[in-house]
Amino acid sequence: MTDQTATQATSLRQHLADAIRDAACNGDCGKSEEECARERIQPFVWHHGVLAVVEGTPEVLVDTVLTALLGPIPTGFNTAEWTTVRAIQLMNEAGQERDAAQARVKALEKRLLLVTEEEVAGA
Ligand SMILES: [Zn+2]
Repeated sequence: MTDQTATQATSLRQHLADAIRDAACNGDCGKSEEECARERIQPFVWHHGVLAVVEGTPEVLVDTVLTALLGPIPTGFNTAEWTTVRAIQLMNEAGQERDAAQARVKALEKRLLLVTEEEVAGA
């Protein structure tokens, strides 16, 4: 793992942890304890003023992470549809970045080839 990749992974990890903490109910949702526990992440342990442990249904935790990764689900989409749409968008973006990177490598190869040819011609 490169330093940049490690930094991105740490940043993503922190982003997701923050999203999970932000999704925890602070007690003013106005729902019954049972309703809230089904729909929200529940604070479990605070450590020095920071929410350290949460609990929630697997679905609530997954939805929180997906929303943090993919953005909020637009009206008219369900979670599965939106996950698919965003996955395709992200793959397209990754493909465009790959194409741009390949173009940069080709341009660099051409420049290196020109320098080598100049060196040969000058020798
Ligand atoms: Zn609540």
